[in-house]
Amino acid sequence: MKILVINTGSSSIKYQLFDLGSQDKVIASGIVEKIGEDISFVTYKRILPGGSGFEENTEECSIGDHAKGMNRIVDLLVDSTHGSIKDKKEISAIGHRVVHGGEAFHSPTIIDEEVIKAIERNIPLAPLHNPSNLVGIEVAELTFPDIPQVAVFDTAFHQTMPMKAFLYALPLEMYKKNGIRRYGFHGTSHSYVAEKAAEYMGRPLNELNLITIHLGNGASMAAIKEGECVDTTMGMTPLAGLVMGTRSGDIDPALPFFMAERFRLSLKDIDTLLNKDSGLKGLCGTNDMREVIDQKDAGDEDSKIALDVYAYRIKKYIGSYFAALGNLDAVIFTAGIGENVSYIRELCCGGLDGLGIEIDLERNNKNGNGIREINSAGSKSKILIIPTDEELKIAQETKKIIEN
Ligand code: AMP
Repeated sequence: MKILVINTGSSSIKYQLFDLGSQDKVIASGIVEKIGEDISFVTYKRILPGGSGFEENTEECSIGDHAKGMNRIVDLLVDSTHGSIKDKKEISAIGHRVVHGGEAFHSPTIIDEEVIKAIERNIPLAPLHNPSNLVGIEVAELTFPDIPQVAVFDTAFHQTMPMKAFLYALPLEMYKKNGIRRYGFHGTSHSYVAEKAAEYMGRPLNELNLITIHLGNGASMAAIKEGECVDTTMGMTPLAGLVMGTRSGDIDPALPFFMAERFRLSLKDIDTLLNKDSGLKGLCGTNDMREVIDQKDAGDEDSKIALDVYAYRIKKYIGSYFAALGNLDAVIFTAGIGENVSYIRELCCGGLDGLGIEIDLERNNKNGNGIREINSAGSKSKILIIPTDEELKIAQETKKIIEN
């Protein structure tokens, strides 16, 4: 079954076409960027007809709006000589990544009028993302009017959190009237790696207590008790929690007032400072972990401290999630940094023997692909590296929902 996964941003559309069967595989992927600007870019990779290799290319062109971007994607998919499919009717459904489902969505859902209205109602909670996701849905419905469209929400996996974990200690009506609470993000990734961990460990997910650590440009952790999320580090917005590439994560909530008064910064300035100029970039000048590690290896003191701050925050959350879970079966590292940077994993897990979390440094330093176990033989909890694949998970969820 062929499923197209779409992730629409304010000026971009990312896509992957999956062929889901005995072996799930990507047969075409790409991104249309700088939509609406003078020059747009279309970067794509597609399997050639008959499986005779891949073609990769980037073209400069003018893509005036998202509808034109979607048309270009269809042309690339269906191209008679190089396309991965012969007819767009071969696509059975479209899965959309939608950032904020608020409290309305606990699981993926087929998109209809009501669902669109609910995503619109959540715009105040994700003003930068939900409007673009809605544009993606609209243009996909115009381009593929006869096939089901499914929304998969970043927030849905975390909807099982109990009130004590999601409520802020603010006047209660802030939550009751305006939905101000912790929602959490990266849910697709956390749930994907949790399922993979259960498969790897040969045990049912609903018997496992896990701490999942997604470390990409954005970063978050989840505490998963008997298969369900009971806490997560991101909050009402993706700014909370861990130190990220450019985001501060947790800070003293009074700091914005202090900055406004002391440095005469506007709300917009502070928003930019915390979201775009903080995190690793703020501490040592770059948000790219590879560069931070290189700088540290070259003796740069700021980079060393940035990495310490980054890992210490994660380590503290491992401790607090251990307390929330009571006992722990596995800690899971995923995403660009979690999968690739042994130094960070070592800093996060070192000295946690008292909690039954013991890293094996030799295993941790070995490069490899796929799922890897990096705990010592005597460790009570496993420590796993599990590559994430949010798009595949969206495709699988989409398939599941249209088959039922
Ligand atoms: P993601 O958002 O999952 O693509 O992760 C992006 C982050 O992962 C960036 O900080 C990258 O520098 C980092 N990253 C990706 N691959 C590697 C690698 N092989 N070694 C070190 N850092 C990496």
